[in-house]
Amino acid sequence: MIIRKTDEQLDQMAAAGAVHARCMKMLTAKVRPGVTTAELDRAAEKFIRSQGGVPTFKGFRGFPGSICASPNSMVVHGIPGPRKLEKGDILSLDIGVTLDGWVADGASTIPVGPIDETTERLLEVTKRSLDDAVAQVVPGNRIGDISHAVQTTVEAAGFSIIRSLVGHGVGQNMHEEPQIPNYGPPGRGPEIEAGMTFAIEPMVNVGGPEIYMDDDGWSVFSQDGSMAAHFEYSVAATEDGPRILTPWDSA
Ligand code: MG
Repeated sequence: MIIRKTDEQLDQMAAAGAVHARCMKMLTAKVRPGVTTAELDRAAEKFIRSQGGVPTFKGFRGFPGSICASPNSMVVHGIPGPRKLEKGDILSLDIGVTLDGWVADGASTIPVGPIDETTERLLEVTKRSLDDAVAQVVPGNRIGDISHAVQTTVEAAGFSIIRSLVGHGVGQNMHEEPQIPNYGPPGRGPEIEAGMTFAIEPMVNVGGPEIYMDDDGWSVFSQDGSMAAHFEYSVAATEDGPRILTPWDSA
């Protein structure tokens, strides 16, 4: 069952999302050569707790970090640690904030200094595929319209959608129904209704779509070692159109 939220509940999710967005802005400003992902993790946890929130990911199925920090060919679920960022890296930061029982989930991929042209295009295309998907979050559309929008934008640019990882509903739980694949035909799947809330998260490789999981049981890498990007918003369907609940790029 897809849980619909009331307007008041959407406001509560947006309050969690406002903490999320400010956390992302704060971390993005810290991303530079020489910084470790553990430092970013500590800064995130401190900030989220200072706002009365809880880092959603911490302890989730035993995950040790407050954020996921995934550099370069690592797609998602990176455990923060001693790795120092280097010029030319990209870093996917995935942040979950729980505030008053409501979850905000969102991610951005950030360049560490100047990056090569292909990687720059990867980030631009993956972010644009997210924006195109958000535009489909309209009552009367279907989940497949979201999926199709991501796929169309990414594949037109010659990059690969990772198919085995999907977006999801979000609310009082980080993962609710429905699953939201980043590929597939339009006009299929559950109908979108006002009050539904989704975490839409295109995950894209420069090379092939295959991935593997590291021995640590968390880190997911592109199989061919190519660069990977991940962008995510939590977004609500409303009668007035899509409402982005984690506006990390306009915080
Ligand atoms: Mg998510």
